[in-house]
Amino acid sequence: MKLGIVGLPNVGKSTLFNAITNAGAESANYPFCTIDPNVGVVAVPDARLDKLSAMYHPKKTTPAVIEFVDIAGLVKGASKGEGLGNKFLANIRECSAIIHVVRCFDDENVIHVEGSTDPLRDIGIIDIELILADVEMVERRIDKAQKAAKGDKRYLHEVEVFSALRDWLNDGNSARSFACGEEDAELIATSELLSLKPIIYAANLDEDGFADHQNNPYYQLVADLAAREGAQVIPVCAKLEAEIAELEPEEKKEFLEELGIPESGLDRLIRASYALLGLISFLTSGEDECRAWTITRGTKAPQAAGKIHTDFERGFIRAEVIAFDDLTACGTMSAAKEKGLVRSEGKEYVMKDGDIVLFRFNV
Ligand code: GDP
Repeated sequence: MKLGIVGLPNVGKSTLFNAITNAGAESANYPFCTIDPNVGVVAVPDARLDKLSAMYHPKKTTPAVIEFVDIAGLVKGASKGEGLGNKFLANIRECSAIIHVVRCFDDENVIHVEGSTDPLRDIGIIDIELILADVEMVERRIDKAQKAAKGDKRYLHEVEVFSALRDWLNDGNSARSFACGEEDAELIATSELLSLKPIIYAANLDEDGFADHQNNPYYQLVADLAAREGAQVIPVCAKLEAEIAELEPEEKKEFLEELGIPESGLDRLIRASYALLGLISFLTSGEDECRAWTITRGTKAPQAAGKIHTDFERGFIRAEVIAFDDLTACGTMSAAKEKGLVRSEGKEYVMKDGDIVLFRFNV
């Protein structure tokens, strides 16, 4: 599951992507990650894992990671094949969600392709390209369904749903905001539309704007739009993020404290991206390794065990689980056991974010 970073030229995408690669996780530890210069692998900040590590002093601490793809070159007319338009749209199609970087800073030294800073206009330009590409997809889907309906009347409903969606898109709206019932939404989800992908707006501010983003007029415009769409907006200062990402953890902490910011914009963006993908982490602890493992929300214990090793899933007996807060309240695992806070969970247990787990299994 990758997130595509999109936005007009000169809005700060590459700078943000550099921050991601600077902060990058050792991809050697993550064999499932793509090796590609346009893909950045980054650790998901997790204070629980840090605390667990401080408790166990393991030889190795391994965070969860996510992948970001730098999708440069999306310009006006991309859906009509302008620039390398179609290639970029295809790259977005492979992503599970979108980070839309929006320029919220003025700088006469950095040319704005549209001549001035105007976040809503810029968002509109990118949106329209994605929507136009979707209209083409939907038209093809309607054609196919119409043909199929000649033999099987059940396809008539599909024709109806996608025709309504086409009209909605043609009015300049994203598929994301198309209102329909659950079943129709599932049907539409089979079409892999670009404007259906979940989105986070990364408002790229200058340093002053970042420090006081709530009062920044550009930020407010993006925040209002995001609120109307039910999307999120995360303030970042790409330039600053790129600098922060090069610091050692201790230096980074001090630097953020000096700035009076509890968390870097990039860290916030990474955590929000993880949640946007519907991902949560469970933790394993020990003297060799403390580790955060990625699962989708709703995963049951045996499948979570399978993330560690297929044998764990096949031979699953039970999971010994403790909530992170219970463990920290007790101080040590043995104290938590004495208090009966380590639960024994079976095959039907649905994993929770931050569960600390020991799997019992037959080999
Ligand atoms: P991209 O075309 O969207 O990838 O944009 P770049 O990341 O290459 O950034 C374009 C220019 O804007 C570069 O010269 C950056 O240094 C500059 N830039 C990026 N972020 C900021 C920012 O937060 N403030 C200011 N003033 N300049 C920025």
